[in-house]
Amino acid sequence: MTAPIPKPWVMAIAPYVPGRSKTDDGRKVAKLSSNENPLGTAPEARAAFAEASQTLERYPDAGASELREAIAVKHGLDPARVIYGTGSDEVLHLVAGAYAGPGDEIIFVRYGFAVYEIAARRVGATPVVAPDRDYATDVDAILACVTPATRVVFVANPNNPTGTFAAREEIARLHAALPREVMLVIDQAYAEYIRAEEDDHALELARTESNVIVTRTFSKIYGLAAERIGWGYGPAAAVEAMHRIRAPFNVTTAGQQAAIAALAADDFVDNSRDHNATWRAWLTQEVEKLGNAGLRAVPSKANFVLVLFEGPVSAETAYKALMEAGYIVRWLPGQGLPHGLRISIGTAEETQGVMAALRRIVAGE
Ligand SMILES: *Cc1c(COP(=O)(O)O)cnc(C)c1O
Repeated sequence: MTAPIPKPWVMAIAPYVPGRSKTDDGRKVAKLSSNENPLGTAPEARAAFAEASQTLERYPDAGASELREAIAVKHGLDPARVIYGTGSDEVLHLVAGAYAGPGDEIIFVRYGFAVYEIAARRVGATPVVAPDRDYATDVDAILACVTPATRVVFVANPNNPTGTFAAREEIARLHAALPREVMLVIDQAYAEYIRAEEDDHALELARTESNVIVTRTFSKIYGLAAERIGWGYGPAAAVEAMHRIRAPFNVTTAGQQAAIAALAADDFVDNSRDHNATWRAWLTQEVEKLGNAGLRAVPSKANFVLVLFEGPVSAETAYKALMEAGYIVRWLPGQGLPHGLRISIGTAEETQGVMAALRRIVAGE
């Protein structure tokens, strides 16, 4: 039977695989697979969300003006140049949609965020994968991939799923060497986990340069993943182009209100950053103690640690055994990491528990 045929570039997309929250047999276990905030959501954000349920019959503010204003005040930005999306995922798609199409190339690093390839293929552009340097972003490798067809470069900083971080000088060097007609997207989904003095200055570049867009999210440290709120900052012309292709009401009322309240919850964010730093350091150090069994932790600046299995116990074996023990982590064979497990930092109890289980698995118990 004949039927409509989807575009070939759409059928070339490998669907995004989200982190799991249940085992194969349906047991609910500790979810350390999606880099969510183990401390939950700030109480003021939950209250704002609940309050917004009083006006469910109304469309949201399509211009998200209060949210843009709150973001602008918080970060010292021009509210007119804030774009927002159904998660920062949508903002990434908006950049690809505004700047690339069939015949164009979009560069991202190997072991980069899975959405970049989907965003490139979705618009018919060609994804170009730059080699990593020991799992980290390699600026020279990215620059070597640039051709006259390059339109967009996506760099997550810190990167997911590796947790690696490119210093300010490296980001500056990348920007300085890119042709001005290439849009550089710095995806800062984990920026709030970085200490102020380590900041990569990407937002500063987005403020001043004509070819830099920074994306941010409320899904990670702000604990609002369920509401799908992300934003971006870039040149006025880019923001204007992206507005043309975004869905008209792409951020919900409750999401906007919760995000505004979350921006003001400094104590919650500070506690979340401290908690993460403490337990990330602890997890990293404990994994390193299993070095003689071939385990190693990639140094992370995010809210997760990528653990590599280079010895007799495979990542797949550990993944299944951890699931059995009540911990779901992320195994990423689809992203070229069959030898790695990405473990999100959980509560103190979860983090100690997943590590104890990992020790037993490696010991063959
Ligand atoms: C989680 C994540 C995002 C997107 O999150 P949203 O929930 O869509 O805002 C974007 N980039 C990276 C690197 C991420 O890890």
